[in-house]
Amino acid sequence: VTFQELLDSYDIDVAPEGHHHRRQGWEQLDCPSCGAMGHYRLGFHLHYKYFACWVCGSLPLIPTLVTLTGEQWSKCVSLAADLDVDSKRFKTKERGNYQEPKGLTDLGAIHRSFLQLRGFKEIDKLAKLWNLKATMPFGKLSYRIFIPIHLHGEKVSWTTRSVGDFKSYLNAEPDKETVNHKTLLYGEDLVRHSVIVVEGPLDAWAIGPGAVATLGVGFKLEQLKRIARYPSRWICFDAEPKAQEQAKKLCKALSVFPGKTTNIVCDTGKDPSRVTEKELGQLRKLVK
Ligand SMILES: [Zn+2]
Repeated sequence: VTFQELLDSYDIDVAPEGHHHRRQGWEQLDCPSCGAMGHYRLGFHLHYKYFACWVCGSLPLIPTLVTLTGEQWSKCVSLAADLDVDSKRFKTKERGNYQEPKGLTDLGAIHRSFLQLRGFKEIDKLAKLWNLKATMPFGKLSYRIFIPIHLHGEKVSWTTRSVGDFKSYLNAEPDKETVNHKTLLYGEDLVRHSVIVVEGPLDAWAIGPGAVATLGVGFKLEQLKRIARYPSRWICFDAEPKAQEQAKKLCKALSVFPGKTTNIVCDTGKDPSRVTEKELGQLRKLVK
């Protein structure tokens, strides 16, 4: 059966044809976890069979099916197994085995105050949506926020953000990631029809779902191809000259693909994680 047929048999509504939350390769429905009706925030990926909600982040397949259908666990396992797979897949090269640093914990006071200083208010919501953890307070990765990178609902790589001044980002080594993070867009699982491309995870968190980070100012061909799949694209790198040079390069490379690319330079700060709430609101509207 198709996912649509499964939903029909349980009288579950999906976003109607032409709804602005609909996107290629996905079905959009109301999220049973955060509950708002008629918003269609929960996406189901028709090829990789996973759920991702704009508020809750990744949701596990079987428990979500249990809540949606009201069926027993074992029934939902077979419902999931019987689902047809949409064959339009996107190939990725595999490399190491995903492995997280040892001793991760929930965010502590030092991580929270770092985020608060950077203008983030609802830290628990932020941590839940992006699956953020804290590293151990000693060793090479001490005093960092652990940031997993998802692809199709699975963690495939990670990076870490220092809460001090030392080397902002330290990434997973090749043997500890399943997919090279520089071929991915951080936050892509939560993108719908429009995308805002930023440099770092902090910028993506500030804007919220719909923003993706290239994890550095440079971009790889694989990342370019991923961005090109969205018909409406906004590039929002740092205001400084080197970053703007890259932004222009990216816009030019994207111009040969169908759709529209626009370069934006923030007015009230050097990057999206440092701008005013008003400007963030304007950015969020672009991907609503
Ligand atoms: Zn939700």
